[in-house]
Amino acid sequence: MNRSQSTAAAALGMGPLLTLRRIILPQSMRAVIPGLANDTIGMLKLTSIASVIFVNELTFRSQQVVGQNFKFFTVFGAAAVIYLVLTSGISLLQVWLESIFDHERDRKVTLSWFGLRPSTRNVKPLDAPIDSPVAAKEPEANDHAWIGTLLPAESRTPRHRDEPFVACRNVWKSYGKREILRGVDLSIGHGEVVVILGPSGSGKSTLLKLINHLEPLDWGTIKVDSQYVGYREVPGGGGTVRPLHNLARARAEARVGMVFQHFNLFSHLSALDNIVEAQRQVYDVPRAEAQALGRELLKSVGLAAHADFLPHRLSGGQQQRVAIARALAIKPKLMLFDEPTSALDPELVGEVLGVMRGLADAGMTMVVVTHEVRFARDVADRVVFMDGGEVIEQGTPQQVIDNPTHERTQKFLNVVAN
Ligand code: ADP
Ligand code: MG
Repeated sequence: MNRSQSTAAAALGMGPLLTLRRIILPQSMRAVIPGLANDTIGMLKLTSIASVIFVNELTFRSQQVVGQNFKFFTVFGAAAVIYLVLTSGISLLQVWLESIFDHERDRKVTLSWFGLRPSTRNVKPLDAPIDSPVAAKEPEANDHAWIGTLLPAESRTPRHRDEPFVACRNVWKSYGKREILRGVDLSIGHGEVVVILGPSGSGKSTLLKLINHLEPLDWGTIKVDSQYVGYREVPGGGGTVRPLHNLARARAEARVGMVFQHFNLFSHLSALDNIVEAQRQVYDVPRAEAQALGRELLKSVGLAAHADFLPHRLSGGQQQRVAIARALAIKPKLMLFDEPTSALDPELVGEVLGVMRGLADAGMTMVVVTHEVRFARDVADRVVFMDGGEVIEQGTPQQVIDNPTHERTQKFLNVVAN
């Protein structure tokens, strides 16, 4: 089971139990059932645990009966029928269970009088472009005014205009003895787009995970929209903070959307259901409303025709656009992107950056970790260069990318540019 999917669930405000029930178990069941059914049938054939009927027992009894009445064909015919009925029963049970936990809807089978046939309920017509993700190519969404209309007013206005929207103060974080973040100070304004550059291992992902409290910090404070995420101040403690017990709820209330390098889509859910899941389970949005927003978001990332596709049938670029739509569905005040295009084939990078550009244009506050220097130059309001768990320098793209003052920044940019 994929740990990254659990992280994605946590970022959407889903608690551990909810994640277990909705994400992990359905996928495990799917993996377990065929083996379980085969084992059961095997057991029937081979062992006497299922002592009512097993093959040897059946044969032995049949022979006894034949010995008494000499109706060889009738008796063994009856034995064969009993055996078939039992194993078929188990097979049908297996088919039924698999259909419940089946991720691949278009392969779902139903029982009919004529045997098993593919269910027509959820199946697309055979000539529908299902196998090639590029087949159903749609025009890219150029008009990004949509985002403003989707987001509630409160997410478009900060609680306190005179404070930074995201404020990281003297943030320290270690894993074991290794110091990953060493006193990071970073302020991000409302509506600002900040690109974080830095070599691998410099602590960029860790910083993002601390901002929405996917990981606890060791020292310092982080506030989003003037509030701690999952911490509360100890009364009379002079600014000391304690973690809250219900972290999932705290994350849900903070409304911080996160997009990961490897998309981390829920692999058993369709594109639309990926987007609907947290709305329904975490925010209690009525199904129709959640689906309507889901379809609208899919349309705006250029994937309206892919609503029923499972993630594995989408290209990387399409998966990442679904992941962005999924994060937007929780109506985030802040979007965190952790190397969103690093896992993509070069020709697919543009479609994802296009959506991110649209978001930035629409006024979303964004923190983007990326190696795409051109994106940083074109879209970022500010570029932050990190190395060794520290902010080395920051400023406008022109300052940091074109005229870096620090030697480490120059060295990094040389490597990335080549
Ligand atoms: P970056 O995103 O800049 O490449 P990261 O923040 O992912 O850097 O990681 C910084 C360092 O922290 C890496 O050397 C990584 O091995 C280590 N690290 C990250 N997460 C963990 C963890 N959960 N446990 C132990 N070490 C970790
Ligand atoms: Mg990283």
